[in-house]
Amino acid sequence: NPNLSQFGTQMSNLTGVRAIMKDIIETLRTGEGQDFINLSAGNPVILPEVEQLWRDCTEQLLASSEYGEVICRYGSSQGYQPLIEAIANDFNQRYGLNLTERNILITPGSQSIYFYATNAFGGYTTSGKLKQVVLPLSPDYTGYGGVCLTPEAVVAYKPALEIDEKAHHFKYRPDFSQLTITEETGCVIFSRPCNPTGNVLTQEEVKKIADLAASFDVPVLIDSAYAPPFPALNFTEMTPVFGSNIIHCMSLSKAGLPGERVGIAIGDPKLIGILESFQTNLCIHSPRYGQAIAARAIASGALAKISSNIIRPYYASKFDVLENTLDQSMPEELPWFLHRGEGAIFAWLWLQDLPITDWELYQELKKVGVIVVPGSTFFPGLREDWSHKQQCLRISLTASNEEIEVAMQRLAKVVQSVYQRS
Ligand code: PLP
Repeated sequence: NPNLSQFGTQMSNLTGVRAIMKDIIETLRTGEGQDFINLSAGNPVILPEVEQLWRDCTEQLLASSEYGEVICRYGSSQGYQPLIEAIANDFNQRYGLNLTERNILITPGSQSIYFYATNAFGGYTTSGKLKQVVLPLSPDYTGYGGVCLTPEAVVAYKPALEIDEKAHHFKYRPDFSQLTITEETGCVIFSRPCNPTGNVLTQEEVKKIADLAASFDVPVLIDSAYAPPFPALNFTEMTPVFGSNIIHCMSLSKAGLPGERVGIAIGDPKLIGILESFQTNLCIHSPRYGQAIAARAIASGALAKISSNIIRPYYASKFDVLENTLDQSMPEELPWFLHRGEGAIFAWLWLQDLPITDWELYQELKKVGVIVVPGSTFFPGLREDWSHKQQCLRISLTASNEEIEVAMQRLAKVVQSVYQRS
């Protein structure tokens, strides 16, 4: 559209996974009576205990004198004070920090933090220099591709692969021989646990990245949308890492509140202030109903408890079902590798030397009633040719055990015939 600005054109693009989602919705709608097993969803399952928690917090809010103040008045840009206090108290106690309210910003969902940050720290400076948004380990969250108004700023790095041939497992590692962080870097972003791969970068890897960035005063955003203490979707031991140039970013979406859009950024007051100004200009502040119920769920400790007792085991056991079914049904001689399931709500399957593209495989799977997400959409900012990009699938853990079993058995058959045909 010639009437749109550069930014207008950029923002009206359907990028990454959103383009696929359009095809999936179309497929489900026009499926001609076919019963699809949909393993594409990023939408969390509504778990009864979690829904009840939010219902209880809402009832308490409705019954309190706070209600009018929460929804009938504007508040501060930074966020609703009782929520900020609850987070500061919880994190200070849990992780031995000294957070004050100046360290915390509440945003409408965590996606908006990445929009503010990639455009405040990344893009062209007033003197015309391009500041990069560095994704140190590709693949990573597809949303990072869409949020930056200067797409050429987003630069991702190929990972190193750690492969266990016999067990059909693999794990991505940051490739420090390639990763470059310099004065041209505006900010660094990665998810931990990672959507789409379920990877959890180790403490040492995170510290190494943060130290590299610190020498150039570069902020590092650690996307903790799946991390402890809530939603606690880590299946391996992990502790959040804090530091002067780290912005710890959280989301309540996978803790049962995606509809309310609550994101949380924790960091140095100078960095938080920059993001806050961005937010003031964009939307004044986050909606306060979600913040008010979150304040109660966090202050009482209920959210952290439900996260580790209910949410984590639910998805961890889905991953086990998926892994066991693949182990039983995938041909031993084929070079298939499941990424280590260390967290999040997805499994990531790599089919080495796959004779067709991931998009073609996605189409083949649709024919047997299985919908997954082709992996090539999860490499935002990785411009070089790399056949691996067309050899992966993201499989959601939001379906039932039976659906996951049946879908993985069908997938195993399709994959076998695809390799045989070549
Ligand atoms: N980051 C990661 C890694 C995600 O998977 C998601 C959503 O799926 C988001 C950020 C955005 O979450 P929200 O804006 O709902 O907080």
